[in-house]
Amino acid sequence: NKKIVVITGASSGLGLATTKSLAKQGGYFVVMAVRDKEKTKRICKEEGLEEGKDVAVLEMDLASFDSVRKFARNLKAWLGPQPLDRLICNAAVYLPHLQAPEFTKDGYEMSLQVNHLSHFLLINLLLPELKKSKDPRCVIVGSITGNTNTIGGGLVWPRAELGDMRGWRRMLKGQRTAMIDGHNFNGAKAYKDSKLCNMLLMQELDRRLHNSTNIAFTSMYPGCIAETNLFRNKRQWFRKLFPVFMKYVTGGYVSEPEAGDRLAQTVADPRCAKSGIYWSWNGGARMVGVLVPGSDTPVGAGGSGGDLFENTLSDEAQDKKKAQMVWEYSAKAVGLD
Ligand code: NDP
Repeated sequence: NKKIVVITGASSGLGLATTKSLAKQGGYFVVMAVRDKEKTKRICKEEGLEEGKDVAVLEMDLASFDSVRKFARNLKAWLGPQPLDRLICNAAVYLPHLQAPEFTKDGYEMSLQVNHLSHFLLINLLLPELKKSKDPRCVIVGSITGNTNTIGGGLVWPRAELGDMRGWRRMLKGQRTAMIDGHNFNGAKAYKDSKLCNMLLMQELDRRLHNSTNIAFTSMYPGCIAETNLFRNKRQWFRKLFPVFMKYVTGGYVSEPEAGDRLAQTVADPRCAKSGIYWSWNGGARMVGVLVPGSDTPVGAGGSGGDLFENTLSDEAQDKKKAQMVWEYSAKAVGLD
């Protein structure tokens, strides 16, 4: 009688830590939705996650809409009449080192498709299975880097900004375009823009679907998990120094196990059944969550320790018109319009 949880990108970092946290708590069975099944099966053995008892491993490559559709079909067959209780959209790529954009075979810039578009498609395909649950939840992992009312998101260049989305309109006309705002490619910005889309989408899902489906749609910021593979494309010196900087200078550092416990909390904590919320933890951050004029984000969002609270999103991340556009353009991009 375990609750069934799908976690995308459960093969590494936050997704794996969350899987381990849920297996330890008991009461949850995690379907690990991953691009590399064999690697994930090996990791399960190493971590003592028992297939069939704690977890199942299913393949899904978020860089391909076909693969997402195939995963949804396989999952439905695997679930049979059972409900899907939680859908955790966690996987992401961060490609700040690229000079030129990498496009998927569907024709979209890699971080836009993996981080946002494919999750949009997956959520829509799995709505019928979620609706079968008594207390369904869908959590999209966000980031302060897409939320410009913080130091981390607002003052560290480049900032997330979708502009008037002219680039996205070009993409929909079949013109090879990387950036939503139509400007030149910047890999770090593409990541931040995709995270902004994640947070806009969560709110639009809440507005469109919460009342009719009872699904709680939320997002969360886990803290800066400075040691994960997200930074795999950064230089070696950065990967060594970044955790030290985040630990001792900004105080925004969170370990993988603690971040995993946080995402697991959004799965399990009765308080997290509330829809439309962007959850954060008021840990010991000295700079990351500091107030920027005009915002009311509490000091100390991020960092280790503390309790969860309902965080405030930046003006752009709360923009209803943009959220509607993100929905319409995403639906067109994935072929659901
Ligand atoms: P990791 O790189 O460790 O994990 C990312 C996961 O996504 C991996 O499991 C990876 O698979 C998977 N993935 C990447 N591309 C694809 C694809 N095409 N198809 C399927 N899966 C894919 O990074 P994190 O754990 O740090 O990131 C997890 C989430 O946390 C992301 O949403 C990120 O934006 C967010 N986040 C992270 C922060 C941090 O400081 N690290 C801060 C704020 C938010 P594989 O194992 O095969 O590489």
